[in-house]
Amino acid sequence: MRNLMIAGNWKMNKTYEEGVVLAQGLADALTGKEFKGVDVVVCPPTVDLKGVSEVIDQAQAPFALGAQNVYWEESGAFTGETAPSMLTAVNATYCIIGHSERRGYFGETDEDINKKAKALMAHDIVPISCCGEPLEVREAGKHVEFVVDQIKKDTEGLDLSDPSKYVIAYEPIWAIGTGKTATADDAQEVCCAIRETLAEIFGKETADKVRVLYGGSAKPGNIAELVAKPDVDGALVGGASLKADSFSEMVLNAAATL
Ligand code: PEP
Repeated sequence: MRNLMIAGNWKMNKTYEEGVVLAQGLADALTGKEFKGVDVVVCPPTVDLKGVSEVIDQAQAPFALGAQNVYWEESGAFTGETAPSMLTAVNATYCIIGHSERRGYFGETDEDINKKAKALMAHDIVPISCCGEPLEVREAGKHVEFVVDQIKKDTEGLDLSDPSKYVIAYEPIWAIGTGKTATADDAQEVCCAIRETLAEIFGKETADKVRVLYGGSAKPGNIAELVAKPDVDGALVGGASLKADSFSEMVLNAAATL
């Protein structure tokens, strides 16, 4: 009913040329392989988007392009920012928003994330909207209510009439880039709470169609166990997306569970 999704977040890694090489390597690794039911997305740094877009186009690569950030205004005096229309111009059809690194280092708030989602959706770009708790909240046993609160604020007033065009990534901050993966049961607990929250706000039929990914040290060796959980629809992948072989292996391992 819901396609799985494996999305790679390259973060601030890969120069333009390195990005083109990685995208080409991924195209080579995945072309001709069977992974029906798994949507694959790569999210390079902004300056790499055009180069990766050209690789996708020329190789007819079986993956989509996403950005890592956006600003909600259409144009104007916003030095250093990127408008949704600029992402569309390079064929980016997804965009990560609300990553914990942007919340933590750059002070992004749930209100900002909500505005970014609305701006992206107005341009038919699918947000991959991140949420997740810090370690102290997890240790206090308050992780579910913390994430539910983020979801309520991040989705306020969104039009989810096409629920396939909004993706959530649950990324417990203590598991990002640390090698510490949440167990599949931990991921399921929160992904299920996210879906129940969406059901309360948007109705069950809509909630059942929104993809909820897990992120945090996901890799080829644990992806099958994660996606076997009923509410975990794939992964947002940092470290393991930086090599064509590990990322393509994740895609194929996820597909093998279907
Ligand atoms: C991320 O930052 O989105 C992420 C999940 O990173 P990693 O896979 O490296 O933990």
